[in-house]
Amino acid sequence: MRAVRMEARGGPEVLRYGEVPDPPPEAGQVRVQVRAVALNHLDIWVRKGVASPKLPLPHILGCDVAGVVEAVGPGVSGLVPGQAVVVNPGVSCGRCERCLAGQDNLCPDYQILGEHRWGGYAEFVVVPAANVLPKPENLSFVEAAAVPLTFLTAWQMVVDRLQVRPGEDVLVMAAGSGVSVAAIQIAKLYGARVIAAAGSEAKLAQARALGADEVVDYSQPEWFKEVRRLTGGKGADAVVDHTGAVYWEGVIKATAWGGRICLVGASSGYEALTPLAHIFYRQLSILGSTMASKSRLYPILRWMVQGRLKPVVGAVLPLPQAADGHRLLEERRVFGKVVLEV
Ligand code: ZN
Repeated sequence: MRAVRMEARGGPEVLRYGEVPDPPPEAGQVRVQVRAVALNHLDIWVRKGVASPKLPLPHILGCDVAGVVEAVGPGVSGLVPGQAVVVNPGVSCGRCERCLAGQDNLCPDYQILGEHRWGGYAEFVVVPAANVLPKPENLSFVEAAAVPLTFLTAWQMVVDRLQVRPGEDVLVMAAGSGVSVAAIQIAKLYGARVIAAAGSEAKLAQARALGADEVVDYSQPEWFKEVRRLTGGKGADAVVDHTGAVYWEGVIKATAWGGRICLVGASSGYEALTPLAHIFYRQLSILGSTMASKSRLYPILRWMVQGRLKPVVGAVLPLPQAADGHRLLEERRVFGKVVLEV
């Protein structure tokens, strides 16, 4: 099959379009003909060797796939070639205590498609049968590929970890990122008032168009005071954050007494100073998050069918131009997902 192989760790130029052997579907697996695959920042971290630095090469990136079932392995029932599907990127053992509790993203054998196993920058990808769901008919393959990883990540943050309730003020940092685009919509769905923060006028306008009630420019010094002003001095009840060290103290000061902060990354740096008095005296909760249970893709896709959640596609390129897609994403020139068509 034709695929974009990652042949070394480094810049976008390590991605080369060429031939690799067809992966056969083994027992319990399906082979999906990839129609569209969306890019994520995870792809860039793996390419650079920041994530999974010991991964054997060549490797095939790509976590978010929409396509058509092409072949099924032994023991697979209920799936037949020709079905249009969305692929769930989280792969787990399915039989440990965590998996059985519905916490499959805490499974000791948890893998992400395109990081720990070959992903979707290819004509075909092989995944467990448990990882394919019917593609909503109202979404194109490109739109469907733009859904799984970022919406799953945002769903666990807003719904499971922060447990956002109607009427709460929710601050969503880095409003232009894929996770935040999803988090703004999910927080609105759960009845919150959303304050979106970003560093450019264009991104703030796009956040408003997605449903954000208020916007804050966090390139301004003491931007957290604007969050307090917008909440009558209270601060945000819940915060969706992955901005890292540069913004961390501001995030804490923007959070209400008794508020919750959920972290899913730290883009500007992992080593941050935490003013501990704020944590205990103002009774803040700091919650970590990575991905979500596979089950969460079901409600996400139901809301997509109803049009209450929407994928946001910023750019579409053909598969052989994967390296150009990486450049677009890395330079933050796109609002919404970069998707490769196969
Ligand atoms: Zn497990």
